[in-house]
Amino acid sequence: MNRKYRHLVGTLALLLSTLACRAATSLIFPDTPTPLPPATLTPLPNTPIPTLPAPTEEIILEAACPLLLSDIMDAALSDANSSEKFSEEDYYVLYTIDDDKLKTREDVVASNNIGGEYDSRAKHESLWNYFAEIIPEDERKFVTKFAVTSDGRGEILAAVSPNYDNPSEWTLEVDTLDTDDNFSLTYTLMHEFGHLLTLNSKQVPVNRRVLYNIDDIDIYEQAVAQCPQYFTGEGCSTIDSYINEFFKRFWSHFYEEWQEVDEIDDEDVYYDRLDDFHDTYQDQFLTDYAPTSPAEDIAESWSFFVLSPKPDNNSIANEKILFFYEYPELVRLRGDILNRVCEAFPE
Ligand SMILES: [Zn+2]
Repeated sequence: MNRKYRHLVGTLALLLSTLACRAATSLIFPDTPTPLPPATLTPLPNTPIPTLPAPTEEIILEAACPLLLSDIMDAALSDANSSEKFSEEDYYVLYTIDDDKLKTREDVVASNNIGGEYDSRAKHESLWNYFAEIIPEDERKFVTKFAVTSDGRGEILAAVSPNYDNPSEWTLEVDTLDTDDNFSLTYTLMHEFGHLLTLNSKQVPVNRRVLYNIDDIDIYEQAVAQCPQYFTGEGCSTIDSYINEFFKRFWSHFYEEWQEVDEIDDEDVYYDRLDDFHDTYQDQFLTDYAPTSPAEDIAESWSFFVLSPKPDNNSIANEKILFFYEYPELVRLRGDILNRVCEAFPE
């Protein structure tokens, strides 16, 4: 099993967490088996239906706030060399979301190190509300929980994960101590939304057998073998999914080589070998973090697609940005999000 899968003990046991942002991925599973939920998958609430623009409506390709966006990208790229290693969370406050607002608070893991404004409901609401402002509601209705976390300053800033009890719904996690820089926060939230966009259960139906038997390598390998498309870890991506197409185009040629690296158990050796892999294929990746996995690569490429000007087709890395321009619904979504970021970015 690769390092995406990691056990945590204690009260985090009820939570499932994957795809940390710009840091090592993690998938948190309970140590004790939990009864399977009913076999029928709950469909995504209000499946997003792309809104076609009115005939006269112009699709936005250039944002109204180009300098702001360029500062966001600069912040993201300057963070690119920060540690990618996962640290233990010592603060985990979980909110349910009702009517697009934070509702009940549950202190799953309390830390004495987090206090004052970072622990305050006002701070937590401002974080959720910012995400809710920049991402259209129809695109994130399956995000039903918001977790405010911390692993100390630095390390993981945010993550998303399918909910353990209903994995077609997801949780967004944000490290409250890492949110002072609104540029990095904005980039990171865009990256996390890239995961939600490309891994939600319409794109990748959840494989519950794998999910609830996370230590069983045989079950995992069977599921991979039975998947004619790209298997993301959550499940077998649909044939038309964004990530399957992205994988076919940009990853299939070196996937075996990457897998050899990904299977290394020793963390130091793993990161050294991943650096070597990145050096070999440097012109194919937009950031240092992108080679971590196809899922991280598409999330990084999505963030560049939304927040950067349209690039020339002069590198494979740029082709990954141009990839999204092939989907009219995503070009429209980009325009919508850009308007929202320009409007909602904290002064
Ligand atoms: Zn990520």
